[in-house]
Amino acid sequence: MKPYAFGVDIGGTSIKIGLAKTSGWLFETRKIGTPSDLSAESFLLSISEVIKQRIHARGLKAADFAGIGVGVPGPVDEKGVVHGCPNLGWSEVDVKGILSRALDIPVQVGNDANVAALGEMWQGGGKGFSNLVMVTLGTGVGGGVIVDQHIVCGQYGSAGEIGHLHVSDTESEPCGCSNFGCLEQYASATGIVRTASRLLCVHPDVPSILRKAAPLDAKIVCDGARAGDALATSAVESAMDQLGKALAMVSCVVDPEAYVIGGGVSLASDVLMPPLKKAYRRYAFPSSRHTAFKQAVLGNQAGIIGGIKLAVADAKGNKEK
Ligand SMILES: [Zn+2]
Repeated sequence: MKPYAFGVDIGGTSIKIGLAKTSGWLFETRKIGTPSDLSAESFLLSISEVIKQRIHARGLKAADFAGIGVGVPGPVDEKGVVHGCPNLGWSEVDVKGILSRALDIPVQVGNDANVAALGEMWQGGGKGFSNLVMVTLGTGVGGGVIVDQHIVCGQYGSAGEIGHLHVSDTESEPCGCSNFGCLEQYASATGIVRTASRLLCVHPDVPSILRKAAPLDAKIVCDGARAGDALATSAVESAMDQLGKALAMVSCVVDPEAYVIGGGVSLASDVLMPPLKKAYRRYAFPSSRHTAFKQAVLGNQAGIIGGIKLAVADAKGNKEK
């Protein structure tokens, strides 16, 4: 095994590049702004220039690298082609082809949520498990499915899109995906705030500390629930009921050993986990009722650590995409 690998996490606002030993020791992280005015190819070539510069600065050469694992915010197929990234303005882009030609190092590409799930399995909250589902609660709800230590990406790159499981037939507003009633409309940070705002309107006579908050955000709602505010508690329980129901359905398909919950909202896990576990156990198929729930621990480094794992596993001959 060659001694080094890069993990690259491409996001809508920044690109993180991690340089590690293939043993998993991450010893350098760079963060650069996401360019907004470049074509997809020029964008990727600018990343390859940073990588070449870091290799040179460390006195290394391309032949010292087992690989580069890249996470991108869109559906990725088995060939490393991304099929649309709305955050980056990309349509179909051969990320693997462009980067591997520019760098002469093997490149593996995955969806960012799947790659983060791989990172949490390797060195984070999912350490010790080979079958897990990671759920990221942020502006939206992301998901990553790992089976036998391999990312499941599906025929169209959309396996693990847990945020778009249909959980409500009565929703009147569209989700970002254009459907109505998706999980992320309720269980994301935005969804928790929306539910709290609706409850405040529906129950104008119920006193709540949330009425003084302007603007309302998910942290204020979770803090309110922790302080015993009835309306805030109701908003949190409603969100976690939808999430628990959705994960009970996920268990009927992949039956993971553990759910790893991450993202900004999960910092309030003391408030979220009890109603989430209660709801999950109410809806789950009996033999899946005791699936473990863990908190993600790698934060915004999960993507680069997962990228390194993707590169290392590929170098070992595992088809881990
Ligand atoms: Zn949706």
